[in-house]
Amino acid sequence: MNCVHCGKTLPNGSRRDRAYCDHNCRALGSYYRRKAGIPPLPRWQHPALTSDNPALRSAAALAKKLGEANGWSPSLVLCAMDGLTAVLEHRPPGKPVKLTEVRRRIPRHASSFRVAEVLARLELLEDDSASAIRSWIDDRTAELPAGFADDVRAWLLVLLDGDSRAKPRSRTCLYAYFGGVRPLLENWATPRDHLREITVSDVTAALSPLCGWQRRNAIAALRSLFRFAKKHGLIFANPTTRLSSEDIPRSLLPMTDAEVLAVQRIAVTPAQRLIVALAAVHAARATAIRSLTLDDLDLPNRRITIAEHGQRLGELPYQTLLAWLDQRRATWPKTPNRHILINAKTALGTGPVSPEYLKRHLLHQGVYLERIRGDRVLHEALTVGADPLHLTLVFNLSHTTASNYATIAQNLLDDQTGVRRDTVGGESGRS
Ligand SMILES: [Zn+2]
Repeated sequence: MNCVHCGKTLPNGSRRDRAYCDHNCRALGSYYRRKAGIPPLPRWQHPALTSDNPALRSAAALAKKLGEANGWSPSLVLCAMDGLTAVLEHRPPGKPVKLTEVRRRIPRHASSFRVAEVLARLELLEDDSASAIRSWIDDRTAELPAGFADDVRAWLLVLLDGDSRAKPRSRTCLYAYFGGVRPLLENWATPRDHLREITVSDVTAALSPLCGWQRRNAIAALRSLFRFAKKHGLIFANPTTRLSSEDIPRSLLPMTDAEVLAVQRIAVTPAQRLIVALAAVHAARATAIRSLTLDDLDLPNRRITIAEHGQRLGELPYQTLLAWLDQRRATWPKTPNRHILINAKTALGTGPVSPEYLKRHLLHQGVYLERIRGDRVLHEALTVGADPLHLTLVFNLSHTTASNYATIAQNLLDDQTGVRRDTVGGESGRS
């Protein structure tokens, strides 16, 4: 691209509608044009609007119309046209675009939501997001050592769809199970080539460094995997039949050092660290974290309002907040969204991030927010001496939940002093 007046090459990365190299050339160019009586240059328009592909042309026109009707900013309209170009340009007419393809192929700056909206109105969108979990299974299992990949894939698909004996399992269950077995399979891959070569001592050795929920999760996942393999004749003997998870109480026992370390290792991005800090210090729930807005913050006075409950902002959340807000400002300087946590999609609107956002950032990596949150409440209960009223006030819990925590704390305290050895019961903690 060259300057219309002086012919100098315009710098790389210039706006696409740029015609002159500087203000001088613009002024001179326009002066000479008017003097010669030449009509002004036609306004720059997105190439999609004049594309040879009729589908792309009408999609771009619709994007422009929708933008005008719904108050999209000019750049949002152009970005949507970029997205439409990416998916429609070389597509035979009338062939629909899959939603997952939209998400995968459009450029980063385009909004998949707007592009999908335009395509849907033209009846060119095929919503295949239900199969997104299937592509997740394909992608993740393809990364596994070759000897295990097919069996693990078949196992996850049966979990997902269910079979004659078992009901379909939730996606969360799939994520958690896969997260539980993946590191073990990767470790086994060096000496072993196939599930049928895994022995009882392999299983015991792999589980020995794990404790708490990581161990529970790994045991449940391994048992499910090997039960599946046995049933389908992939292995001769099941190495997990004697495993039991009974010895790990299903409870709100304090997190072990290993668990805390694991969380620290996983939570590395500013957003992850902020979420973990809010759960670990303020016992904030996922929903409350997602719906936090800038108006809930009073940084100069170090105060925060979580789920309508004002409190002093702890040092760790304060520091992680500053780091995240820096990144947020740098990435989305002009976002109209007042929510603290935003992503490329929600930065365009005013809504909170989806529950899926937190899952992708933490649960899929093996961090259970509820577990961290429960640990915080329990820690407080142990420190101040199991007073339900105190817990209710500090964490804004219902009385029942606070009492449950207080009872668990009391049992733990009794346990430590050897007064009583009660088993800690029930997974309470939600109110
Ligand atoms: Zn020039």
